[in-house]
Amino acid sequence: MKQTFSLIALIAAFPAFAEDARELDAHEHGVGTLNIAIDGTTVAMGIEAPGADIVGFEYAAESDADLAAIDAAVATLGAPLDLFVMSDAANCSLVEAEAALEGEDGHDDHADEEHDDHSDEAGHTEFHAEYTLTCDNPDALTEITFAYFEAFPNAQGVEVQMITTTGAQAFEVTRDAPVLDLGR
Ligand SMILES: [Zn+2]
Repeated sequence: MKQTFSLIALIAAFPAFAEDARELDAHEHGVGTLNIAIDGTTVAMGIEAPGADIVGFEYAAESDADLAAIDAAVATLGAPLDLFVMSDAANCSLVEAEAALEGEDGHDDHADEEHDDHSDEAGHTEFHAEYTLTCDNPDALTEITFAYFEAFPNAQGVEVQMITTTGAQAFEVTRDAPVLDLGR
């Protein structure tokens, strides 16, 4: 149990899990970041992706269509097993998912018209999501297929960091090569 605790502490130190630790304008359009921690049957994941990748814009939502696009994206990001398709044999299921848009004003106040004056700035927004999965057979989790690229046509790549009890590894998954081989 102590090991579980320390891995969770470690993933909490990843930028994706410390929302204010990084300037939003540090992101590169087209490239998202996914952190994965696997410990026993528990898989914790966190993704952050530019608004440009997910909804195609980063201005404060102005129209009903903008708001609908954001709501749809948050809903899509709330179903990680449809975006990050795990090896069947691992038999993973979703325990918890949380997704939100992060803008220059913080949480989810894109509908607030008083912030209209931000919309002509070159502001950036990001979608963040965090997931907890449980996998009956975690040793069989060898591959993750990124249907993410089908869901989000503007996304070109995802930088992946994975930590397990045996160490950390980095991967890059792209639209042209959307299957992540976890090498385990
Ligand atoms: Zn941006």
